[in-house]
Amino acid sequence: MNPVQSLLNQDNYIIPVVVHVLYNNDDQNISNDRIYSQIETLNNDYNALNADLENVPSNFINVVGNVGLTFCLVQSDLNGNPFSGINRVFTNVNSFQGFSDDMKDSDQGGVDAWDTNNYLNIWVCNLSGNTLGFATMPGSVDQELDGVVIDYEYFGVNLNATNPYNLGRTATHEVGHFFNLEHTFYGSCNDLDGCDDTPEISSPTYGCPDITQESCQSINMTMNYMDYANDACMYMFTICQAEIMIDALLTLRPNLATNSGCDVSLSDLKQSNIEIYPNPVSDLLFIKTQNQMVLFFDIYGRNVLSKYFYNNSSVDVSSLRAGTYFVSINNQLYQFIKY
Ligand SMILES: [Zn+2]
Repeated sequence: MNPVQSLLNQDNYIIPVVVHVLYNNDDQNISNDRIYSQIETLNNDYNALNADLENVPSNFINVVGNVGLTFCLVQSDLNGNPFSGINRVFTNVNSFQGFSDDMKDSDQGGVDAWDTNNYLNIWVCNLSGNTLGFATMPGSVDQELDGVVIDYEYFGVNLNATNPYNLGRTATHEVGHFFNLEHTFYGSCNDLDGCDDTPEISSPTYGCPDITQESCQSINMTMNYMDYANDACMYMFTICQAEIMIDALLTLRPNLATNSGCDVSLSDLKQSNIEIYPNPVSDLLFIKTQNQMVLFFDIYGRNVLSKYFYNNSSVDVSSLRAGTYFVSINNQLYQFIKY
């Protein structure tokens, strides 16, 4: 079994996301591509498909966790009409105070949340000061304030940016809080983050430290997403963290796991005569079906590939970017992961 396969979580949950882009000028009105790159980063990081996972040092490789969450932009609005999942709203407010609630309130120049029981709301706006983003843990605030806020400069992958938070890991970190994760340095050497597989660490990590750095008599897991290292220097959750997040989803945010806001209703492969393998796949994907047009969609519902299958043939998917894809065969949807 290859390492990706062994990490692949059998229970994958689809989380419907609405991104509210609050902008006061063109810079703040970030592109669709930036938003897509953020969703892709979340999907890689939450399925242990991030390319830099290979940097995990040998002493931590056995505790790498695959969360098994797939994020998708909602495909219909609150009235059921087709929707991009991206809610762009002009605001007169040039910058919002970090940790304030104003961006979530239309009376304060913000935009009101969509039903927070059924959607992960992400507000992207200009935050004043040094706040990269912040999130609410389950049950910590009134429903209408529940969600994740990210400064527009640190949302998505932006390789032109000179700051070290340009790979979308701020959202990976904040979504971790949203699903009940504490910082790994919480409680310092008393290790109060609720996970034994994240070693005690005396204080937050900044920059891109030596991976053999120690504190509290153990080697620091500086590359954990729930620390503060640069985006390029954080690349793992642990098994315990993955369990906490799935538990939070199923017990504290149960509607998120069952909402079909992405219009992705998956057919059960076991119930059909169709076989799709290997899954996850890197190059040749085999599909057992005959005389069928097979359509491939990315998580935004875009048709990325089409092929007519005469008889149990294969299709080369090596050109697709890593992530989750859907295959439509005879009006049934199936899912596979490209790595
Ligand atoms: Zn944090």
